[in-house]
Amino acid sequence: MTQRTRVGILGATGMVGQRFIQLLDGHPQFVVTALAASDRSQGTPFGDACTWRLPGAMPQWARSIVVGAPSGPLDCDVVFSSLPGDVAEPVEATLADQGYPVISNSSSHRMDERVPLVIPEVNPDHLCLLEQRSGPGFIVTNPNCTAIMVALALAPLHRMFGVEAVTLATMQALSGAGYPGVSALDITDNVLPYIAHEEEKVEQELGKLFGTADGGQITAQAAFSVSAQCHRVAVQDGHVAAVWVRLRNQVDVNDVAEAFRTFTGPPQEMKLHSAPPHPIVLRSERDRPQPRLDRDAGGGMAVSVGRLKRDATGAFRFLTLSHNTIRGAAGAALLNAELLLARGVPLRRSP
Ligand code: NAP
Repeated sequence: MTQRTRVGILGATGMVGQRFIQLLDGHPQFVVTALAASDRSQGTPFGDACTWRLPGAMPQWARSIVVGAPSGPLDCDVVFSSLPGDVAEPVEATLADQGYPVISNSSSHRMDERVPLVIPEVNPDHLCLLEQRSGPGFIVTNPNCTAIMVALALAPLHRMFGVEAVTLATMQALSGAGYPGVSALDITDNVLPYIAHEEEKVEQELGKLFGTADGGQITAQAAFSVSAQCHRVAVQDGHVAAVWVRLRNQVDVNDVAEAFRTFTGPPQEMKLHSAPPHPIVLRSERDRPQPRLDRDAGGGMAVSVGRLKRDATGAFRFLTLSHNTIRGAAGAALLNAELLLARGVPLRRSP
């Protein structure tokens, strides 16, 4: 059996950190050897530091790992980061400068023009930005949870018909705000019409994801405009977006449905461990997708699309839904790491 790559998780006690631990439990290519969090948790075995908030038990192997500080030297070869953005900014840059590959789920380096922002099915070519620092370390990021599910739905349409403009309105789950997140008194019997920085993140990240990467740099942003309005709703897990897309080519609704149904990318071709067989599951029922029923499609790694139709303005409109802490966060970072390994990129610290 080949030796598994040793992983350190930063922000291990949080909503996304716990998902990393759950998804890495029994993973054939990775083994978790280091966990880090805030000074509140440091010096304590993970089993005591972390209140486990996912269904099922905390994996036994994680309980005895003593939580450390998110700084080198770390007892691992590759770092998975789910730190809050302001904390992640200097921590990830320092670790990459120390030679660690850093696979980040945080927002702080996503728009850095030297750093790839990657969804393996959408823009794997952006990994040409790996040589970003003077040393061998690097940062690879995945997009914001909403940008990921919208980008996955747009990818086949842009590839086949050319996207001209996108408008979207989201209904985002509570776990997207981390723990303890939004106050119960604010969200009960309510919809919150504002999520700080979310709309800017979605619009900017879609621009970068569909931009052109060439010769180790991003040479152009997406050739279409995006308008996003984001809302928080009283759903535990699973973000939903209502999307309106104008296409450049003349196509009908059957062409669009076929593009969704047949969409695949390198993770499916290379049979990566976390890849769902179909990254987009097209639902034909009039009342799907729904968060409770569809967030676990493809083990939480597939995006569900439904309610597809052409509207009176000529735009195609549909709903897209995905699990925000799996495909929208920990699973997205893990798939990026699997793609790097499959492409022969060594996920080992080189000082
Ligand atoms: P969270 O539940 O609030 O967890 C935050 C984690 O960071 C905890 O492990 C916490 O440790 C640690 N931490 C906080 N301050 C720290 C510090 N100064 N030094 C070291 N560690 C510190 O947040 P989350 O939802 O997991 O989100 C984590 C990151 O993922 C954020 O950047 C977020 O934007 C991004 N993200 C989240 C989602 C989602 O759906 N939740 C989706 C996409 C991206 P302690 O327990 O010790 O305080």
